[in-house]
Amino acid sequence: MDNTKALVLFSGGLDSTLAVKLLVEQGIEVVGITFTTPFTNPSIEGAKELNIPLKIIHLGEEYLEIVKLPKYGYGKNMNPCIDCKIFMLKRAKEYMAQVGAEFIATGEVLGERPKSQKKDALWIIERDSDLKGLLLRPLSAKLLPATIAEEKGWVNREKLLNIQGRSRKPQMALAKEFGITTYETPAGGCLLTDPIFSRKLKDLFTCLKDDTSLNDIQLLTIGRHFRLSPTTKIIVGRNDEENKKLLEFQVLNLQVLNLLAQVDDILFKVVNFPGPITILRGKGGKVTQEHLELTARLTARYSKAKEEDMVAVEYWGATTPGKKILSVSPIKDSELVSIRI
Ligand code: SF4
Repeated sequence: MDNTKALVLFSGGLDSTLAVKLLVEQGIEVVGITFTTPFTNPSIEGAKELNIPLKIIHLGEEYLEIVKLPKYGYGKNMNPCIDCKIFMLKRAKEYMAQVGAEFIATGEVLGERPKSQKKDALWIIERDSDLKGLLLRPLSAKLLPATIAEEKGWVNREKLLNIQGRSRKPQMALAKEFGITTYETPAGGCLLTDPIFSRKLKDLFTCLKDDTSLNDIQLLTIGRHFRLSPTTKIIVGRNDEENKKLLEFQVLNLQVLNLLAQVDDILFKVVNFPGPITILRGKGGKVTQEHLELTARLTARYSKAKEEDMVAVEYWGATTPGKKILSVSPIKDSELVSIRI
């Protein structure tokens, strides 16, 4: 069959790059598809180097739902890899029809990841994404049942591979052979595989449950986080760039997301000394005088005034006019332990 077209799930990582190469080498026309999520931002550079068209799909709220409650559970951290792949493949299947591709391929390698790439997991992914026989894994194809593309001779199974396991040596050797030098790290920098980010996300889901918004999640990527109550937390900027972003968050809430009904951020800054921007976020406006004082003390602790006895800290809200000042003692490190997330 001439001009066989394949849609390849492309993350910019080595495995999906090799999957593309293996198909292109067979004369198959490849179209790439990649997904950005609140937790990933895959590189598109690799697709340019491979000279393939790349469709980018942005996933937001609907993706968040599967992260909150994945049918097949989480991996080592908050990564719901099986559900994530099913979700992306379902979207890819819709696009497959649009571009007239005959099948979908991925860079999955049998046994490379403990949960999502075991044989039964690969089978579940194929079944639940409604792609039976249409999902080719070129790197491990010889260890898996033949797909329609192989049976019909669109793809030569003999030229596909039998890689399995966690060692990446075979892929590295192949990359060398193909002259591939640029690719992303495994998992494409997915924040859901990061233990520190996962701890903060778990705290958010536990406390806010269904009220967790994309804005709450974006905020997890910035600063030090402290929990005061299920609906109240503090975020302290760690450097100038984060301070700037925290200032923007308040404006963002007001102007773009219109989240004021749920979120009223109060910002804090030490007067007369360099120091961080701190956000006190109380969902539903549930902020007490005690919360205000604690946040001011934290802000003082992370400022250049941390050795002072008393420090003036100003604070202001998006809905309250003008700034107010609290005079507080910087919080002691021993007091931080119980509230740090
Ligand atoms: S590592 Fe992240 S992006 Fe990749 S499959 Fe798992 S959850 Fe999805």
